[in-house]
Amino acid sequence: MVLVGQAPTKPLSSASQQSNTTTAASLVIIGTGLAGYNLAREFRKLAPRSPLLLITADDGAFYSKPLLSASFSHGKTAQKLSTSSAEEMARELDAEILVHTRVIHIDRPKKILTIQQDGTEHVSKVHYGQLVLATGAKCRKLPHYEGDAQAHIFRINNLRDYHRFRTAMIGRKRILLLGAGLIGCEFANDLIQAGFEVDLVDQEKWPLATLLPEIAGRDLQSALEGYGVRFHGDTSLTRIEKSGASFKAQLDNGEVIKTDIVLAALGLEANTGLANMAGLSVQRGIAVDRNLQTSDPSVYALGDCAEIDGHQLLFVAPLIACAKSLAQTLSGNPSQVNFGVIPVAVKTTLHPTTICPPRPGAEGAWQISREKSGVCAEFRNSRGDLLGFALTGNAIAHRERLSQECQPIMNNQSTNNR
Ligand SMILES: Cc1cc2nc3c(=O)[nH]c(=O)nc-3n(C[C@H](O)[C@H](O)[C@H](O)COP(=O)(O)OP(=O)(O)OC[C@H]3O[C@@H](n4cnc5c(N)ncnc54)[C@H](O)[C@@H]3O)c2cc1C
Repeated sequence: MVLVGQAPTKPLSSASQQSNTTTAASLVIIGTGLAGYNLAREFRKLAPRSPLLLITADDGAFYSKPLLSASFSHGKTAQKLSTSSAEEMARELDAEILVHTRVIHIDRPKKILTIQQDGTEHVSKVHYGQLVLATGAKCRKLPHYEGDAQAHIFRINNLRDYHRFRTAMIGRKRILLLGAGLIGCEFANDLIQAGFEVDLVDQEKWPLATLLPEIAGRDLQSALEGYGVRFHGDTSLTRIEKSGASFKAQLDNGEVIKTDIVLAALGLEANTGLANMAGLSVQRGIAVDRNLQTSDPSVYALGDCAEIDGHQLLFVAPLIACAKSLAQTLSGNPSQVNFGVIPVAVKTTLHPTTICPPRPGAEGAWQISREKSGVCAEFRNSRGDLLGFALTGNAIAHRERLSQECQPIMNNQSTNNR
């Protein structure tokens, strides 16, 4: 059952059976991204009859967010990327899903959520027994740019953003990408293949500079340049202004770029506002232990919004591990998550790249070997232990071997190996 933009007027129990009593056993998940939906699926396997409510500020459609930066060249619309509607998900999960509904307050002592339907002043209350925050991450605030066109800069973090961007690209040719991190490089790879002229700007000297040593970053850079991407490193946008139907972008190295569209990919930060307001412990993300429990024993968090035992991992693989483990805990079998080695394949298909970065601040140095068409970079400490690696081009063939050798992100004792 889907309550489209409609708040329940009484506490929720199961989809088939409602009562007026507070449902202390009911599970409420805030968020229907990959974290919320994966958890709901795992929970359902273990608890086929338990009441389950999901609440989301968006339309509750199921989609794979990583495809947002790799779908333009395949002609995929937002509609095609959305593989199930909220109605279909509610049926599959035997759950209730409140869509276009934002949770605006958590009363932890009373275990009551205040929710507000999109575009209305109407607020109502929902009780929970156990609460899970799967509220994801948002695009970092943009720096201030001079000129009159800051408001025209696109950012893509959900299907709606992708739809707006695709629509705006119709009939356009040139795109300026701000940020050559994971997502910026993936968009450059996708949009150059879709036939656009791509300028990629980053304040660092080479792409993926926080994840790749210079030689590997330069390797990716020259591969993308070989396909036509114009990389502008060690510089930043200072001014953006309208110029007819296009834009004029001024960089701090003096260059001026004329472009039709500007897309910023300057990083994400955890959505922690709700948790903060509720007085939960928050660091870079909502702080949880390995049981994914927050500082309140009835409230859990996973996905991009969470920081797990000091680890903030804004990727799909960790949230899938968390969903499995948290489903166990929520169905009465307390279980700790334990990440192993998590190599991430960057979707720069023109020059495949895999990263498994060492922990920030880890002691060690990169050891580099050049391959026929790629770079193998291994980050080792003074004892020779492999703490991370980065592979480009044909060196990605070493992924399995290095994954087996690499120290896991977490060990079994809740302290970090790397
Ligand atoms: C362009 C792009 C490419 C990516 N590529 C990769 C990749 O190749 N590999 C990889 O591993 N990872 C990739 N990622 C990261 C990965 O997609 C995320 O780690 C993952 O999708 C996060 O899922 P989530 O459910 O935690 O968050 P989200 O998908 O952000 O979901 C958050 C949910 O919370 C809801 N919400 C938030 N606040 C409220 C509120 N107050 N009330 C009600 N609802 C609320 C939202 O409506 C939404 O439903 C990529 C990310 C992006 C943006």
